[in-house]
Amino acid sequence: MAVLQVALPAPLRHYFDYLPPPNCDIDRLIPGVRLRVPFGSGHRVGMLMSVTDKTELAREQLKWVSAVVDDEPLLSAPHLAFLKWAGDYYHHPIGETVFACLPSLLRKGRPARQRREIRWRLSPEGCHIKPDSLRRAPRQVGLLEFLRQYPEGVTRKQLSELGWGWRTAIRALMDRGWVDTYEYAGTSQGGRGQREPALALNVAQEQAVSAICSSLGTFQPFLLDGVTGSGKTEVYLQVIDRVIREGKQALVLIPEIGLTPQAVDRFRRRFAVPIAVVHSALSDQERLNAWLMARDGSASIVIGTRSAVWTPLRYPGAIIVDEEHDLSYKQHEGFRYSARDLAVVRAQRAKIPVLLGTATPSLESLYNVDLGRYRHLILPERAGDAASPKIEVLDMRRRPMHAALSVTLLEAIRTNLNQGRQVLLFLNRRGFAPAMLCHHCGWVAGCKRCDVHVTYHKERDLLVCHHCGADRRPETSCPSCGGCDLIAVGHGTERLAQLLEDLFPQNRVVRIDRDSTRRKRAMQEMLDTIQSGSAGILIGTQMLAKGHHFPNVTLVGVVDADSGLFGADFRSSERMAQLVMQVAGRAGRAKRPGTVFIQTHHPDHHLLRSLIEHGYGRFAREALVERREAKLPPYTRLTLLRADAHSQGATYNFLSEARIEALKLAKGGIDVFGPVRAPIERRAGRYRGQLLIQAHSRNLLQRMLNPWVHQVENLKTARKVRWSLDVDPQEML
Ligand code: ADP
Ligand code: ZN
Ligand code: ZN
Repeated sequence: MAVLQVALPAPLRHYFDYLPPPNCDIDRLIPGVRLRVPFGSGHRVGMLMSVTDKTELAREQLKWVSAVVDDEPLLSAPHLAFLKWAGDYYHHPIGETVFACLPSLLRKGRPARQRREIRWRLSPEGCHIKPDSLRRAPRQVGLLEFLRQYPEGVTRKQLSELGWGWRTAIRALMDRGWVDTYEYAGTSQGGRGQREPALALNVAQEQAVSAICSSLGTFQPFLLDGVTGSGKTEVYLQVIDRVIREGKQALVLIPEIGLTPQAVDRFRRRFAVPIAVVHSALSDQERLNAWLMARDGSASIVIGTRSAVWTPLRYPGAIIVDEEHDLSYKQHEGFRYSARDLAVVRAQRAKIPVLLGTATPSLESLYNVDLGRYRHLILPERAGDAASPKIEVLDMRRRPMHAALSVTLLEAIRTNLNQGRQVLLFLNRRGFAPAMLCHHCGWVAGCKRCDVHVTYHKERDLLVCHHCGADRRPETSCPSCGGCDLIAVGHGTERLAQLLEDLFPQNRVVRIDRDSTRRKRAMQEMLDTIQSGSAGILIGTQMLAKGHHFPNVTLVGVVDADSGLFGADFRSSERMAQLVMQVAGRAGRAKRPGTVFIQTHHPDHHLLRSLIEHGYGRFAREALVERREAKLPPYTRLTLLRADAHSQGATYNFLSEARIEALKLAKGGIDVFGPVRAPIERRAGRYRGQLLIQAHSRNLLQRMLNPWVHQVENLKTARKVRWSLDVDPQEML
């Protein structure tokens, strides 16, 4: 008797057993095919994981599979094994793991087939048309401008969203031969026209490329540690070139595509091969097309964010993780995986090299270098003739200030602007002011559902909770004393932008944060404004720190470095150092050297000092010593059990019972801490608590977690809470 073990998208940590459909050809039942099965009162799509002859159920309890969806397995055996490994490691239900990694059309049981759609794009001739020559046809000009933004062409849907008579205009442009149509398959063939040639590598780059290329075909992780502008991307490109020449595929993970469209363009300009770009703006069909082209081997390069780590590859050649320290590689809800860590595991299973690139390595990766697991490749200098920026600390204690800015920084801004240069100010706090308080009694406006202060957003005239998203109009009088003198205290990006507009009215200020870039295309428009030089001052949150290249920026100001030095999380100082270095890296990347000013009230803080005087590498060494002494990662392994509920009691009953079970399993080398409240205890009306498991080694931890998760799952108190397990948590919130 054949029993089919099926993974179903359900929050349960086991397979479901079914019988093959009557008169089904058993040979078709290969693990990796999707099955439609009866489940509850309806049907679900599941994934066949294995075929056995054993089951714990009585035969009459077993149901028949209703249909076999795929003729061929959707996923190869090695890929299926990788998913299984990931589900086991993160202790995430296997069905949810498998299905989280599939494009949504496949989750719904749709056929694994590419459907191409027609797109309109500029013809090579159309790319060179000057809008002036069309002055009497404003719609055609508008359309040309629109198409120019999309080298891969636009869909009918995008055109109809323009909302005006696009049909006539596009027909006219097609008649002139400036626009043509083609079938888009979810990948681009690279841009049109001339390919950009490879650059002549400098010595350090050359050594890196040859080290990586000589380990093609074997597993070897590399930490490519190079300051911003040192030519890491050029190293990636040349490694990929080799991979492609060998007929293999390269998988490239980047933190965020929307923020750095230039990065993807650089790959397109270099290679004439099909590139699958996987990002959130794709339609479901486009996503499926890209996934299939990767799986079938027809896309030579696959570029995507975190979730692209799951993309199956037929001919894996190398994996590249750009900005490996970036927090966005860790998924913070649901299936809490780390794409960076999985990339290494995947490379190991596929026996290929994996390249982790960054200017500010995570302490985890540096530790792996120390252990000899990763090879350290260093690019010590900026490529080309760009000089490194000079970093200076501005001691803010008892100094004259103008709102959030010291007079020294203000003077430097003025000087740079007078010389026609650009200035970048970094403040990792969006909104107008982080608090609103009563001048009479000190009452502070808080969120009604969370234990936090709300942020005042002046443009929208709203108090917004940055934790649960709740917003409301600001009170007109104090709810506590009735006084009418409510004041906004502190500085967010909105207020800083207003201040600088008032101080330097001749200069345009561009503010980049999550609020100002909410509209589609807003980010690109702002980047264009910056590149064109018409804005003198750029203000932004960490969004500005990522991968951009602002050649005319010669002054960078870090408005507030202190919040990172004393954050609640043990990783706060590491994050602060990474952000400061990343922001600093935006300055003076072209011919002119840059200066970076860091404002702080703690100029003598030892980590800040070592960062500024000796650079990130020395900072990281000292931070690692502190971690070792405190028995924190990477020297130990952590897992957080988080829980929340409408009542504090439910949360703590559950966590206390989970603790008892944990203590029974915790042998030497494992410590259980808590339960404790989460740093922000109440969020969106729910009480949050956590239990921390700390282990000396990954194996010890996994051996304890396996039985523990099942016990936790079966606790009666578990039904009254929402709980989740976070293996290798990146944030302790
Ligand atoms: P990173 O990825 O480390 O920030 P990039 O690869 O983007 O660095 O390189 C930064 C700048 O230096 C780019 O403008 C790039 O074209 C240039 N560059 C990189 N490698 C070289 C080289 N070997 N010779 C000349 N210029 C280079
Ligand atoms: Zn008051
Ligand atoms: Zn809230």
